[in-house]
Amino acid sequence: MRLSQMLFVTLREDPAEAEIPSHKLLLRAGYIRRIGSGIYAYLPLMWRVLKKVSQIVREEMDATGAQECLLPQLQPADLWRESGRWDTYTQAEGIMFSMTDRQQRELGLGPTHEEVITTIAKDMIRSYRQLPVHLYQIQTKFRDEIRPRFGLMRGREFIMKDGYSFHTNEESLKKTYQDMAQAYSNMLRRSGLQFRAVDADSGAIGGSGSQEFMVLAEAGEDEVLYTEDGQYAANVEKAVSMPADVEQSPFATFEKRETPGTETIDKLCKFLKCSPTQVVKNVLYQAVYDNGITVLVLVSIRGDQDVNQVKLLNELTKLAGNYQAKTVLFLTVPDAEAQRKWAAKSLPLGYMAPDVADDYIAGSKEVNSKFLRLVDRTAVDLTNFVTGSNESGYHVVGANWDKEFPLPATVVGVRTAKKGDRAVHNPEQTLQSARGIEVGHIFQLGTKYSQAMGATYTSEQGEEMPFVMGCYGVGVSRLAQSAVEQSYDKDGIIWPVAIAPYHAIISIPNISDSQQVEVAEKLYAELNQSGIETLLDDRDERAGVKFKDADLIGIPYRIVPGRSLKSGKVEVVERATHKSQEILIDEVNSTLKQWIEAAIN
Ligand code: ATP
Ligand code: MG
Repeated sequence: MRLSQMLFVTLREDPAEAEIPSHKLLLRAGYIRRIGSGIYAYLPLMWRVLKKVSQIVREEMDATGAQECLLPQLQPADLWRESGRWDTYTQAEGIMFSMTDRQQRELGLGPTHEEVITTIAKDMIRSYRQLPVHLYQIQTKFRDEIRPRFGLMRGREFIMKDGYSFHTNEESLKKTYQDMAQAYSNMLRRSGLQFRAVDADSGAIGGSGSQEFMVLAEAGEDEVLYTEDGQYAANVEKAVSMPADVEQSPFATFEKRETPGTETIDKLCKFLKCSPTQVVKNVLYQAVYDNGITVLVLVSIRGDQDVNQVKLLNELTKLAGNYQAKTVLFLTVPDAEAQRKWAAKSLPLGYMAPDVADDYIAGSKEVNSKFLRLVDRTAVDLTNFVTGSNESGYHVVGANWDKEFPLPATVVGVRTAKKGDRAVHNPEQTLQSARGIEVGHIFQLGTKYSQAMGATYTSEQGEEMPFVMGCYGVGVSRLAQSAVEQSYDKDGIIWPVAIAPYHAIISIPNISDSQQVEVAEKLYAELNQSGIETLLDDRDERAGVKFKDADLIGIPYRIVPGRSLKSGKVEVVERATHKSQEILIDEVNSTLKQWIEAAIN
């Protein structure tokens, strides 16, 4: 491609809309253009990058025996009602764009494709003999994200590879899952990324069946906890660890103490001169189930620990049946306004005890009249502990479960693991923390969707059995931007060779110098012909401008037919290192071939 003929517009200044380096650079270098909130045009250079990433993804998927297809983006609401996700996706989370057609039928724009694929399997797979099967597609997904940001990182329209596998049993699923873990590692390695596979939250379905692939970068929205021995890595949403040891309580007898102005654990411990490990704190949450019922949840947890809302949400989902519901729509800490809806009198916030009375709740059709009391494992074994007294300005000390306070019947593990905690697999290892960008997620679904949608096959024994399923996603557009987030310098983007839009760019310093033009044209034709994707900067611009642009767009090798022509050579500059060398014109092709092959393999 000749730059003189290309839609090629670079910006000198950082665009105001961009916060992180990769977003700024992709805008400045003319790869993407914002069309609306979370909506971007992929311009020609970006589209080449995306096609390269897609090709790597495709090759790795095909190598596992998965088959590519293309599923509809317009999805009938009925399918989502069958799986029970229509209301959650269009209303509660509101992540799905929905619409009504001219015949008043409801439709959604696909945020993901479990429903569609399960319907296909239900129709087409009759017998165990047809299993396992794995289909995937590479396609635009639509999600009405609450906070679209960082360009392609969190768009409302983005490219994803999503795959779904069907099996007769868990063992077969596990095998495909392992193959996917390997394929995903290969994809990311081949794309030139530094990454980590981590244990991930798999929601209330549970199981150990979910891993995320995190590209390590400061701008990452996720926190990853890992140990240096390489034995453990998990998303903080899922991570487990050993809590610090409990310090012996200084309080031997139960009594109520005046503790003015101690509504935080910090202030309380300073005032009582005790350790937060001797405190039972009681944290209030408000859950709204899918049948509209609000439940007030009181979690008793050790004072030095924090509740992990993802873990809590999973526990509350498991308890949905107790409230004739299926799932939790919202989980929040009730603010003053929320409390006004159900509080019968003002709560002793900051001083609540595990037995805070149910009569603080004005029960109604929509509000359950009793607290759901949960106790985290860290608080179960405490003795002679400190906790609230249900009276503002007072705490109790020397308290014990089943003496002063009944131990809540439901024991849960909802504490947040954090950096510095001891690891479960080896207490000598402490958890380290890093930021990560989730680019891939593989998931053992089990029979969640097949059961909900009645998708079955006939087993060898002649029984109707629900499919055992897995699903596997890669954010193709997010992955491409992550590569920039990991690889740039003050001059611009440094693409990994494997996904760079072009391998080389020939920058003609002076287009009125016929010898320069002649050599450039010859190399341009020769390199492209031999498969080295090459741009020709034949614009009527100063050499300095061309070199700056070449650096900004991040093409791995820049070829300059300049002064060295008199000795039959051109200058070749490596983008990543700015290292320059003179190479005989006749050897440019073979030299670049070698370098590119070495960089890609
Ligand atoms: P996140 O937690 O970042 O919202 P997710 O867990 O909802 O992502 P999945 O449903 O697992 O995402 O989708 C598979 C992959 O698609 C993700 O790993 C990510 O790389 C990509 N992805 C998800 N949402 C977006 C988005 N809004 N923009 C770009 N890529 C996305
Ligand atoms: Mg995910």
